[in-house]
This record gives sequence, C-alpha cells and structure tokens, in this order.
Amino acid sequence: MLDKKIVLKRGREKAILNRHHWIFSGAIKSAPEFEDGDILPVFSFDNKFLGQAYFNRKTSIAGRMLSFAPPSSCLRCGYGRQACGTSEDKCDVLKVIEENVKNAIELRKIFFDLKNTNSYRLINSEGDFLPGLIVDKYNDVLVIQIGTLGMEKLKANIIKILVAELDPVGIYEKSDSPSRLEEGLESFEGKIFGTVPDEIEILENGNKFLIEVKKGQKTGFYFDQREMRKLVGNLVKNKKVLNCFSYTGGFSVYAMKSKALKVDSIDISKDSVSLLEKNFKLNNLDIKNNNFFVGDVFEYLRNEKLDYDFIILDPPAFCKTKNEIVDACRGYKEINRLAIEKIKPKSLILTCSCSYFVDEKLFQQVIFQAAVDANRKVRIIQKHHLALDHPINIFHPEGNYLKSLLLYIE
Ligand code: SAH
Repeated sequence: MLDKKIVLKRGREKAILNRHHWIFSGAIKSAPEFEDGDILPVFSFDNKFLGQAYFNRKTSIAGRMLSFAPPSSCLRCGYGRQACGTSEDKCDVLKVIEENVKNAIELRKIFFDLKNTNSYRLINSEGDFLPGLIVDKYNDVLVIQIGTLGMEKLKANIIKILVAELDPVGIYEKSDSPSRLEEGLESFEGKIFGTVPDEIEILENGNKFLIEVKKGQKTGFYFDQREMRKLVGNLVKNKKVLNCFSYTGGFSVYAMKSKALKVDSIDISKDSVSLLEKNFKLNNLDIKNNNFFVGDVFEYLRNEKLDYDFIILDPPAFCKTKNEIVDACRGYKEINRLAIEKIKPKSLILTCSCSYFVDEKLFQQVIFQAAVDANRKVRIIQKHHLALDHPINIFHPEGNYLKSLLLYIE
C-alpha cells in the first residue's frame, strides 16, 4: 500500500464521492512530504481510494481532483486505479487527462459548424473535468489560461495533446488570473507554440470579429454571451439599440447585422472601442450613423436621454469576493434603475451579471429594487441561455457565474 497519500478527515470524502473537484485545506487529515503541484492519491479516513488530485499547500483549495475512483484497474496492483504507488499509477492519471481533453474537443464538434462558428471555448476548467485549465480556440490559434500550479506542471502534457489533436497554427498563453498569486505563480503571457498573429479573424454565427489575443481582455473575446447575442439579434429589427459595456462590439455587430435601425456602443476602454469600429467595417456595417463612445456607462446613463428601444447592460464582474457583494449590488441597481427609468415605453432591456457571488436569486432581487425605484412596470421575458461551449459540471456548481434577464418595460 502506498504511503505517499493524502488522507481526508471523516466525512470530508462526501464531496469527492459526489465528484466535486475541490479539497479544502481543512479537509485534510494527513499528508506526506510532497512538492507543491504534485499529483497524489487521495484516500478517505477509512482508507478507501477516492482518486487523484494535484496539491498546493499555499492555497485554501489545497487539492483539485483530476481523476475519480473507481475506473479501470491499475495494471500492477489490480485495484480500481489503486494507489500502488508506481509510476504506472501516475501514467493512469495522465491518461484520464488526455481522455478529458479529447472528450472536450469532441463535445464541441456536436454544437459548432466550422463554416459558421469557427471559434469557441474548447476547455472550460472543471466544466470539462480539467481544473485550472481554460483553452479558447480562435480560428486556428489556441489561447490557454492556466490558473493553478498543479495545472502548470501538466502544461507540457496538455500542449502535446492539443497539438496532436488539433494541429493549431499557434498557441498563446495568457495566464494572468489573480488566483496565480495565491498559487505562488507569476503571471505569464507569451507565445508557446507556432505563430500567433496580432489580429485573428474569427467567425461566430456567420458574423466576423477581429480578436487581439495579446492586447485584448481575458483571452480576447467573451464566448459566454454567444447565445444571448443571438437572442438580441432576433429581437432588434428596426429598433434603436444601446450596447453598454460593449467591449469589441459582440452585441453591436449582431444587432446591426440583424437590421437594427441604429446601435450606439459605449465602453471605457479606448482600445476596445477602436476594435469595435474595425469589426463594424469588417462586417460592412455603417460607421457614420452608429455612435462609438469611449466613456463611463454610469455617467452616460445618468446624463443622456436614453431614447432607445433596447438597452444591453453587460458589465464586468462588479464583485470578485464575498466582501464586495453589497457594493456590487449597489452598482447593478444603479445602472438598471437608470435604464429602466429612462428607456422609452414598450422597450426591452437585456441585463446581465457575471459576478459569481451575486447569484441568480440575488440578482433578480436587485432588479426588483431597481424597478421599484424607477416606478415602471417591468416583466421578465427570458432568462440566460448558457453558451454551449461553457458546460457546467453538475457536481461543481461554482462554474455557474453568468446570468441574464430580458426585461420588458411597459
Ligand atoms: N458585452 C461584451 C463583454 C463586456 S466585458 C461582449 O459581449 O463582448 C465588460 C466591458 O466593460 C469591458 O470591455 C470593460 O472595458 C468595460 N467597462 C468596465 N467598466 C466600465 C464603465 N464604468 N463604463 C464603461 N465600460 C466599462
């Protein structure tokens, strides 16, 4: 039997048996000597093998499960992937990772016709059973984001699998999440394979977008709103639209291509707005009668008349920790109150929040308060549609961060 193993406290095996990926430091009864980032077998208090996880003592989430028992047998010890402690055991977990990468790639093939949509999230961390790893595909370039030391140590394996499976022109790494600091990792950004152009042209539901992987936010584009962009496209014909927090114009391009009368876009980032203009040109859309504002949405909503039939509010996460929930709700309420109060009668508002800590129920309460203060009749017409490339692992609900409400204002 293996002596190099993590043993959990009594009762703390339950979450793992339910296939949750995270092991908090307080759940660990005993741990051997190990290097941070190492993969170790995990056992319950009564010595049942639970699977394998990578560990880092520096973080409150000390371990993240990579494989769960009991699948195939270890060739040596014959137990269900039992921890006999040989290198074979380690090989086994690498096989599970490879399977998970391949399955993630396969899953997307069900949903996307490359002639229409050639870019999407390929690996969605725990949503694809690969904690700490995000891979986005931008046409024939991949952008990866690594959030943990354990995944960092597996990087070479991941790259090898991605290259073998997808034959990309280039792979760029953009690992700049704040969580890396806690993991003891510095931010890293740079090309790690092949060639990566400064601008990549992608296709999403037949709409063209330029992606600046190196300069852009996150990995370059917000794939998670794809279904909502489509929904907006279906509703804006002959309407005057205001796209707040427009970034590079995802919603704006869909709206104009769907024959909106006009779309005004506003974002605080100058670079994003200039890329938005380029995206309009790329799709042969009018850049004279549509406005592109670099500015603060709060001020715009306060100061302008808001003569629109459709307003989109898709702000960045106003709260990144539990402590910021109250302030975040204040922010959400403010923009929603202003939009609800000032929009034309018989109009639509799509309002979104990507703050994990402001859950769906709380978000709806905030919108309720905004509607009360605005003193308008408000109805919910639709709720968020998840993007097909952002699966949420049912055993790991923490992956569910984005919500939207489509409101009708009387
Ligand atoms: N709706 C976009 C994604 C929005 S991301 C899409 O579908 O692609 C959030 C955007 O809000 C970022 O581009 C950021 O620059 C912008 N932003 C953040 N604070 C802002 C503010 N106070 N006023 C205007 N834009 C802001």
